[in-house]
Amino acid sequence: MQSRGFRVTNVKCDMYVNIDAGTIRPTEHGEVFVGEDGIEADQDLGNYERFTGNAMKAENYITTGQVYQEVIRRERNLEYGGEDVEVVPDIPNEIIKRIRAAAKLDNAEITIVEFGGTVGEYQVLLFLEAARMMKRETSADVAFVLVSYLPIPSHIGEMKTKPTQYASRTLNEAGIQADFVVARGPQALDQPRADRLATFCNLDKGFAISAPDVDSIYEVPLVLEQQQFSDKMLKRLHLKPKKKNLQEWKSFVGKIKNLDKELNIAVVGKYFGTGNFVLSDSYISVIEAVKHACWAQGKKPKLTWINSEDFEKNKNELSCLSLYDGILVPGGFGQRGVEGIIAAIGYARRKKIPYLGLCYGMQCAVIEYARHELGWKDAHTTEINPSTPHPVIDVMHDQKVSIASKNYGGTMRLGSFDCFTESGTRARSLYKKADIKERHRHRYEFNNKYRQELKKAGLVLSGLNKDRDLVEIIELKNHPFFMGVQFHPEFQSRPLQPHPLFLGFVKAAQNKKEKH
Ligand code: GLN
Repeated sequence: MQSRGFRVTNVKCDMYVNIDAGTIRPTEHGEVFVGEDGIEADQDLGNYERFTGNAMKAENYITTGQVYQEVIRRERNLEYGGEDVEVVPDIPNEIIKRIRAAAKLDNAEITIVEFGGTVGEYQVLLFLEAARMMKRETSADVAFVLVSYLPIPSHIGEMKTKPTQYASRTLNEAGIQADFVVARGPQALDQPRADRLATFCNLDKGFAISAPDVDSIYEVPLVLEQQQFSDKMLKRLHLKPKKKNLQEWKSFVGKIKNLDKELNIAVVGKYFGTGNFVLSDSYISVIEAVKHACWAQGKKPKLTWINSEDFEKNKNELSCLSLYDGILVPGGFGQRGVEGIIAAIGYARRKKIPYLGLCYGMQCAVIEYARHELGWKDAHTTEINPSTPHPVIDVMHDQKVSIASKNYGGTMRLGSFDCFTESGTRARSLYKKADIKERHRHRYEFNNKYRQELKKAGLVLSGLNKDRDLVEIIELKNHPFFMGVQFHPEFQSRPLQPHPLFLGFVKAAQNKKEKH
């Protein structure tokens, strides 16, 4: 839609009662994506940003919790003027109000609203009701897309349309007729099945769109465009296309498909396992940021998930890290696996393997340095050991109140803050500017009490937030690449504009590989 010349915005509706994603375990629901304004949102907002380049704000993210909270607040304030407040229409009306507010904020011509969950589950019903009411009010401006999965059961070997027919029926029961079905599946939709979907789901010819698995998510717009999805959609919305320009995207996808030289990056952390599966969604923005930087360098990224707890069980396991061109430790919370992370960072430091630490990865790098370079064996973060004699990472002053009152939701240091990069440092040379802005999500921070001693021992404090005198970036000299950042640069990486820190990291990894 954007490539056809329209101003587009995105809205994600999540069905849970949580106010935001900030209190949900990442293995449960994927990464918590942080916006400039400090929202803690569903990971889908990260994809919206990576595809459109538009910064997502609180308005772009709606949950059942937010909707009920606002309706109840208004009821308590007598804003319903003495009427009884009812689930229908007051809850759907609040949803509609929020969707319109998001569209207005970005002055959008087209607003793409994604409903999480699945048709037929109870919690989605009020959102479907909102959608039905919007269609009723402004029929020509609303189109519905049913995204459905078409399985190919291995013992049958045939793509099955039945679940989609059923989903379409269920949608009909909610008063909604899909204009399009996007047919997700392991393979492309063939003609007989496209025809069957059109007949049974009541679609115009050609309005069942094939969306097979592809190597990279960035290929998806091209797959859709081969089927003139945007033309069909614009026609349905009574809009005339202004232009057609997917050229840059096309050449980007063409380039990344043909890379063969691999870079091996180890990601050391703990949020990987869920039941019998490994869930990389917990770190989706980190993964994408590494990919963007590798692609810009003409390399094929190969990421390996390493559970830090393995290093706790057996220190000899650490030597497996020598096989990688770079080691990355992403953000995290709590005790589990932390000693393994610290050991891995020590290994990267001593063996001169390029290291990038994000948030917890920066804090753990400071702990590792204090323990081994200053000999403070008990150095720690007060998140894990509140009574350590050397709290090199300590809780931020204003966070103490939130923690003491168990006020956890939305109270971390969240969103975009200024950072000044010191001249003559790697941080300055990578960013190529003194004043930068990065997004944060943490309660603990470099303890300024230990600045002098750590500096004297060789730790370079290369990025500072001047408003609150906070250390935001650390790095080491005499190492091919060793950097830790208190923020999450991954949220600002874009496929066509990789983030400078990730680029620096990947270039160092590439050098290591070439030297060997
Ligand atoms: N647990 C650490 C803190 O709260 C780091 C958070 C993170 O990595 N996002 O400060």
